[in-house]
Amino acid sequence: MKIRGGQVFDLERGFVSRDLCFDGALISDACAGGGEYDASGCYVIPGLTDLHFHGCMGRDFSDADAEGLEIMAGYELSRGVTQICPAGMTLLEEQLVRVCRTAAEHRAAGRPGAELVGINLEGPFLSMAKKGAQNGDWLHRPDVAMYRRLAEAGKGLVKLVSIAPEEPGAMEFISELAGEVTISVAHTTADYDTAMEAYRRGAREATHLFNAMPPFTHRAPGVVGAAFDSPEVKVELICDGVHIHPSVVRAVFRLFGPERVVLISDTMRAAGMPDGDYTLGGQAVKVEGKYATLADGTLAGSVTDLMSCMRNAVGFGIPLHDAVRAAAVNPAEVLGIIGRAGTLDAGKAANAVVLDSGLNVKAVFFRGELIG
Ligand SMILES: [Zn+2]
Repeated sequence: MKIRGGQVFDLERGFVSRDLCFDGALISDACAGGGEYDASGCYVIPGLTDLHFHGCMGRDFSDADAEGLEIMAGYELSRGVTQICPAGMTLLEEQLVRVCRTAAEHRAAGRPGAELVGINLEGPFLSMAKKGAQNGDWLHRPDVAMYRRLAEAGKGLVKLVSIAPEEPGAMEFISELAGEVTISVAHTTADYDTAMEAYRRGAREATHLFNAMPPFTHRAPGVVGAAFDSPEVKVELICDGVHIHPSVVRAVFRLFGPERVVLISDTMRAAGMPDGDYTLGGQAVKVEGKYATLADGTLAGSVTDLMSCMRNAVGFGIPLHDAVRAAAVNPAEVLGIIGRAGTLDAGKAANAVVLDSGLNVKAVFFRGELIG
């Protein structure tokens, strides 16, 4: 298979005018025959990886519903998101076990749709004061044994766990588990020093930077400042145009550099669905236009998709190459799959998206096949 004549994303060199060749399910250096796709006048980018979204198409990862997960994986693939790491919410342990098991079974059975490359446990080890749209009744103090039971149920798929580092036992949790899973600072009242201690102990991410954490101010830089001062830490940014002002999106890319920003969609089940009444983590959510909110007005996830977030970032003034890096390369690094996905280098999965000059999805290739 050959994708001919496009501007092909290259991490080091920008967009390069070349053909992209597939040999079966992998990218290859030489085109050995097979079909051709004319990408003249288009960009060719790696399939994106969304490491923080909860649901879409009326379904939610937290439902632990096998059919729903397959529908979600199909929807994401259609949007050019070829790798997914869906996120659970704050739920009771028995439900989180079901969520992890459902994901592990989905992967083991090789179900269709975007590749499920991980599980993101956003709850339950979070702060009541900054719970956002998480259900406070089910918050739990940081608990290594519980984490290990969930990881076991997920059969090695749990790749991310969020924690509020000021909670009792959180620092020990981070020290104990930093070598096993990527730990992300989230839904927290932590000040700068507390967040710095979390990063010193091995936490490596900040969950949806600015949302559900103290603000970045000149005498109290909080998690934002601590993440900035910890060069190995990457920061998630919800780029739906609602959660973060465009000016702050521009500032974050300049402050952290395009290699440290991870665009996420943080979608809930109404993504891809009409306005109306939905639920998130057991709470009622109203969806109107770009807004999904609890009854008290708290933002409750987004109703976009990661490709739209990437396009939004460009609309806000982020160079296309930097936006693609933040939606394709950096999340693959966080999840430890950059050796086999996330760029268009030979030997990696033949997962690529063709975008027209307006950045609309024209074609999605997954494992070398055109999805249509
Ligand atoms: Zn959250």
